[in-house]
Amino acid sequence: MKIEVLEKDETNIRLAIRGADVTLMNALRRIGLAEVPSMAIDEVVMIENSSILQDEMISHRLGLTPLKTDLDSYNLPEECKCQSEFGCNLCRVTLTMDAESTEGTRTVYSGELVSENPEIIPVSDKVPIIKLAKGQKLKLEAYARLGKGKNHAKWQPVSVCAYKYYPKIEVPTEECGECSKCVDICPKKVYTMKENKVEVRDLLACNLCMDCVEACPQKPPAIKVEWEKDAFIMNIESTGVLPPERIIQEATKMLDKQLKEFKKQVKAEAK
Ligand SMILES: [Zn+2]
Repeated sequence: MKIEVLEKDETNIRLAIRGADVTLMNALRRIGLAEVPSMAIDEVVMIENSSILQDEMISHRLGLTPLKTDLDSYNLPEECKCQSEFGCNLCRVTLTMDAESTEGTRTVYSGELVSENPEIIPVSDKVPIIKLAKGQKLKLEAYARLGKGKNHAKWQPVSVCAYKYYPKIEVPTEECGECSKCVDICPKKVYTMKENKVEVRDLLACNLCMDCVEACPQKPPAIKVEWEKDAFIMNIESTGVLPPERIIQEATKMLDKQLKEFKKQVKAEAK
């Protein structure tokens, strides 16, 4: 297998993967979505809420606020040694909020959550939680823990985790009528006209929609759009809780763990 990093920044990674198959790609995609843990608020104790939103609504908003995650220092509560309903400092982080509006209406943002661990804080401090009118108060204690996307979407570390086949496009110059219909119709702007010839400008943008093939007035169409059977482009966009490369690394580790467990069980059964 050959992997090439096409693009990478703080929240995004785009990989070209060669020598893989759909089953592996789909397993990694699903594990990335549903199994790689991240931190999220799971329980809220309301001390004072004189706002117009119910406790449940505020808790829900807090739960969906992405929190920076530290997978090396924290355990999943179900795997933690403490086995306590309330958690311990290896499986739970306490955050507090004490907000009040003394004059006029104001918006309370996620940045007002104070965490006991300065590493576990909201990814963005600009997530609006609630609006408070003059004299209204919101005081609460929130408990965050690691969890998995398969149990609740708030624990999903990714906003995008998808793959597509690696496109293969041919535009034979002798058959092309040079009408530029394919250039105009392509929603991803894959083609360009250069000296009256159709050229592929951005091959990787192609999502194999086949609009260009259908738009080609030649019979049969001059453009040939295909895909490589064992090459893929994978796109991972993190919500900011973990670096995107860490998410794919964790996904491969988890797949490995699941397969080992499977092998062990088969062996035990076969005895
Ligand atoms: Zn614990």
